[in-house]
Amino acid sequence: MDKRYYCDFCDKSFTDIPANRKKHINGTYHQRMRKEHYDSFRDAESILEEDARKIPCKDLLRKGSCTFELNCKFSHLTPEAKAELKREILEKVERERLKQKEKKVTITPTLEDWLQKRGKKPVKKTNPKVVFPQWSLPMNLRHVPNLPPSLLPPSMQNFNLERVEWE
Ligand SMILES: [Zn+2]
Ligand SMILES: [Zn+2]
Repeated sequence: MDKRYYCDFCDKSFTDIPANRKKHINGTYHQRMRKEHYDSFRDAESILEEDARKIPCKDLLRKGSCTFELNCKFSHLTPEAKAELKREILEKVERERLKQKEKKVTITPTLEDWLQKRGKKPVKKTNPKVVFPQWSLPMNLRHVPNLPPSLLPPSMQNFNLERVEWE
């Protein structure tokens, strides 16, 4: 019994010998089926983008067919096919827009959310940190020996930071 080769793209089978395989794989029918298969996974944008770089195939326009088929360097997309692809893109954009809208609705904060957050994380009152200034002698006094205490810069030890109760 012959071993059969089954081609998924074309839904065809034939005797599996290298010559048959080669002939089938290089055949225009197989190539078209293969391209159609992969194109169905490509998005409309990339198909249109690729097509926009091509000029329409004259043979296809005049005769309704082109011997180059998929290997043709000119555009084989009909205006209807292009319109269909554009419609697909618009639909996709609209779907994305609705998705974004839904997302926005769900993240709109509610009073409940706010209260819950507040309950979990009470606002902490922090004591303001006391920053003490740094004093230093002016340049022109630095070399003067025995300065009177009134001219010396105050140091932290001069301050009584203990809490004082006033009576
Ligand atoms: Zn095939
Ligand atoms: Zn062509």
